[in-house]
Amino acid sequence: MKDALPEPYWLTQAGAPAPAEPLNGPTTADLAVVGAGYSGLWTALIAKERDPSLDVVVVEAGTAGWAASGRNGGFCAASLTHGFDNGVARFPDEMPQLLRLGRENLDEIASTVDRYKIDCDFRRTGELHVATEEWQWRDLVAGCAAEAALGLDVELLDRDSVRAEVDSPTYLGAVWDRTGCAMVDPARLAWGLREACLSLGVRIYENTKVERISSARAGLFLQTWRGGVSARRVVLATGAHGRLLKRLQQFVVPVYDYALMTEPLSSSQLAAIGWRNRQGIGDSANQFHYYRLTADNRILWGGYDAVYFNGGRITPAQDQREATFEVLADHFAATFPQLDGLRFTHKWGGVIDCCSRFSAFFGTAHGGRLAYAAGYTGLGVGATRFGAKVMLDLLGGRPTELTSLKMVRAKPVPFPPEPVRSGVIQLTRWSIARADRHQGRRNLWLRTLDAMGLGFDS
Ligand SMILES: Cc1cc2nc3c(=O)[nH]c(=O)nc-3n(C[C@H](O)[C@H](O)[C@H](O)COP(=O)(O)OP(=O)(O)OC[C@H]3O[C@@H](n4cnc5c(N)ncnc54)[C@H](O)[C@@H]3O)c2cc1C
Repeated sequence: MKDALPEPYWLTQAGAPAPAEPLNGPTTADLAVVGAGYSGLWTALIAKERDPSLDVVVVEAGTAGWAASGRNGGFCAASLTHGFDNGVARFPDEMPQLLRLGRENLDEIASTVDRYKIDCDFRRTGELHVATEEWQWRDLVAGCAAEAALGLDVELLDRDSVRAEVDSPTYLGAVWDRTGCAMVDPARLAWGLREACLSLGVRIYENTKVERISSARAGLFLQTWRGGVSARRVVLATGAHGRLLKRLQQFVVPVYDYALMTEPLSSSQLAAIGWRNRQGIGDSANQFHYYRLTADNRILWGGYDAVYFNGGRITPAQDQREATFEVLADHFAATFPQLDGLRFTHKWGGVIDCCSRFSAFFGTAHGGRLAYAAGYTGLGVGATRFGAKVMLDLLGGRPTELTSLKMVRAKPVPFPPEPVRSGVIQLTRWSIARADRHQGRRNLWLRTLDAMGLGFDS
């Protein structure tokens, strides 16, 4: 572990594009997008596809995909609601529609990857939700029946069947969601979307932070260090890093999620665990692990700890957290004892834009000339494309199927301000960990939050 490189594995791969020139001077645009993660890149791409004559500019503080979009687990899920159960709990009447829209979204991501020949190892493997304790198995059995009733392509696997797929002595059973999730190389997806945008004539300025957004006569003005953009319309796609619109801060808290990457498995190591169908895997505790194979048969192993640093601080130093890496390594060893001796080559963390309902929220500001989406809470790889369409529809000003959704119209319950916020979140984290140690039983605090529609997750 000590020798592991303190960098997101995906972003260290060959093929990173050379950064675009920063903005130097004034410019204009029909649409200016702030942020070049998936959210911003999808918005720019879809805007150009819808109207090739539109002059679209993307302004990015770092380089495209450097943040969450280039360092995540690469689970590209159809779910728009941070999973089925969360969707049913919050938007029960809309679930059939949200499930359909999510499936269409995933299909459209697949066809975009094909259309632009994006080399991002996109594979529709599905996902195994595994149970490692009896209470999780009971929940999975009940959840699988509810998912099947709403038409999801799910299969319940008992202990022997799941271990025939992937062999861990910790597994008691699983639900295989066969078509609701694809695995993707996240950085290559971001780089490919960036390239697709450029190919359609989008102008991208990197290493250009937007300092301020203000109203101007013909629209809005984005102030940058050595220039500025006068734009008719603006999309704010700044994820957990956004500080440009004050009202978002009551809804979003930055939460750190951490991951390890192993060296490539030899064929005998791979044979020892099976995994021929290469599904993404998530376990079913409140503090869950997610893991998957890479194209060259490494295992990415992440999750479990979701860390909020008091005061909502975001600093590069917090991308490294040895205590979490040690815990993750211990859990990996318990899950795959057959792989004893396998080395970790990379360790990293990143920030997630957590909101209290765990699924994105949307809105407009500056008299409808700016649209935003935030709050993807750890499941934004696929859902950001849906969010991009919502933002463009909101800017269009006419009601559409998407802007009529309750999920789009309603906001999450806000978090309290600091320092109460830190206290509430740390108590919640403690309670969640306790529930996992006590057969999933939720204490009074968690039950109260559940009743209020408030939560904390990754
Ligand atoms: C470790 C980790 C694992 C994850 N695993 C998964 C997973 O397996 N599946 C899944 O669905 N989701 C996962 N997620 C979440 C997923 O990565 C995010 O939901 C998604 O990438 C969000 O995209 P985004 O474009 O909204 O934000 P980001 O990728 O964070 O991009 C926001 C961009 O805005 C830029 N920006 C901010 N402020 C300014 C400014 N003032 N001026 C200019 N630019 C600005 C930033 O520099 C950044 O590039 C994970 C996240 C992390 C951190």
